[in-house]
Amino acid sequence: MLFSELGLGPDVLRAIEDKGYTQPTPIQEQAIPWVLQGRDVLGCAQTGTGKTAGFTLPMISLLASGRARARMPRSLILEPTRELAAQVADSFEMYGKYHKLSMALLIGGETFSEQVKKLDRGVDVLIATPGRLIDLFERGNIMLNDIKVFVIDEADRMLDMGFIPDIERIVSKLPKTRQTLFFSATMPPEIRRLADAFLTTPQEVTVAPPASPAETVTQAMALVQDMDKRKALRHLLRTEDVKNAFIFCNRKRDIAVLQKSLERHGFNAGALHGDMVQSKRTETLDLFKKGEISLLVCSDVAARGIDVQGLSHVFNFDVPLTPDDYVHRIGRTGRAGKQGRAFMLATPDDTKLVGAITRLIKREIPMIAIDGLETAEFGDEDARPRRGGRGGSRSRSEGRPEARSRDERPNREERPAREERAVRDERAPREERPLREERPERPERQPRESLAAAEARRNGEPRRDRDRDRRRRRDDDDDDVSVIGFGDHMPAFMLRSARPRPAAETVAESAEQSQEG
Ligand code: AMP
Repeated sequence: MLFSELGLGPDVLRAIEDKGYTQPTPIQEQAIPWVLQGRDVLGCAQTGTGKTAGFTLPMISLLASGRARARMPRSLILEPTRELAAQVADSFEMYGKYHKLSMALLIGGETFSEQVKKLDRGVDVLIATPGRLIDLFERGNIMLNDIKVFVIDEADRMLDMGFIPDIERIVSKLPKTRQTLFFSATMPPEIRRLADAFLTTPQEVTVAPPASPAETVTQAMALVQDMDKRKALRHLLRTEDVKNAFIFCNRKRDIAVLQKSLERHGFNAGALHGDMVQSKRTETLDLFKKGEISLLVCSDVAARGIDVQGLSHVFNFDVPLTPDDYVHRIGRTGRAGKQGRAFMLATPDDTKLVGAITRLIKREIPMIAIDGLETAEFGDEDARPRRGGRGGSRSRSEGRPEARSRDERPNREERPAREERAVRDERAPREERPLREERPERPERQPRESLAAAEARRNGEPRRDRDRDRRRRRDDDDDDVSVIGFGDHMPAFMLRSARPRPAAETVAESAEQSQEG
């Protein structure tokens, strides 16, 4: 099929031609005609399938006629992270270059004043992360009752990040008559329920995930002691032909430490995580994309959706806490038909996590030895990932693993994500594990209470509202903080009044207290 057969306007087709696309991808082929017909669309597709163009191209054609009024955007796209929002904004600019559509990007970490000025001038396309959008809405800078096309992108990621209450709130401000496009990489029941609530007789489109990383990414894992991980990483960086690489850490505070350590050893490394100011995040990613930084030490904020062309390597400096993240991380390389290489540094403490990954990807990760370092042993016997090859012994290939393991493991049932998360909870607390080489002992950073939350507390606002506020202001994509507690859901037992205690018990207790005092 050709783009010209999809019903897109001539100026959009011109921009596509400039971009050099010859054929629509399956999601574009399926979704674009429905969007152009004004239908709601429920798309099951992940990044890498061409999904962004699947909704931006027809939106440009739809919005080509009409004008935006001040503070009343005509379309809204919600993205879970700032980087994804910025990427969608880039796509809009690229595909809409022959149109005069105005666009605003509302993301945390940028100054309000510029964003407000843009809104005041009127925007056709508003691309936002949920927290910043609600902030601006609450300040009265924006009205959502003229939204004609509403897009929720990466809905399952929004769920993981605790944004669903915010999204429900945003949807309640939208006009009932609108077109809604809803995209998610997976469709667990919670997401399906949301889709049912937000969409009207949607047209469902589903595309297979892009070529699984297993086919284009050569994977390997080295089992080393925690204190040897940096040395192991440096060895891999020196022996592998690394053009550019993401190096994933699980915790933000380890990122800066590792980046500095790499710089000290002469590597050209930058850092990217959700606690950095937005200008620095954007600048670092730009430098990396331009090739001025070749290694990017990062958190999972870089694992999903970020499209860096031709990334040669991914290093998991830490074994990811959920197996899905492993797939997302290594999927940053080996894209668009290119080959990529992914290495993971595991320690004996990571036995269960590695087991969860191999169960999810349904294959073992070939083991390699690192020159000059003793290979460690996996911990817990029951949780050991199965090894193939020579009766379970490690292959001693010198950093050049086979593209695939020889003995494919039989398919096992995929464990649901929630169960995988339990694996993380079973892990020994980090603090109890041996300290890493050079790791400064710093107390864990406590999340700061936002000004609004503090004010609410002083004003005696209910705790639920404060919690929601704090969670939202956590800055949209605070990537390694999971949602804790009940969120907005108040369990019934908490609403039951406390049983009055017998007077004698209360008297005894107050006598005890006065003695202590
Ligand atoms: P996405 O899934 O939207 O993140 O897109 C992944 C990559 O595919 C991006 O680099 C796009 O520029 C590219 N892409 C999107 N549509 C096409 C197409 N029809 N032909 C070739 N590349 C495309």
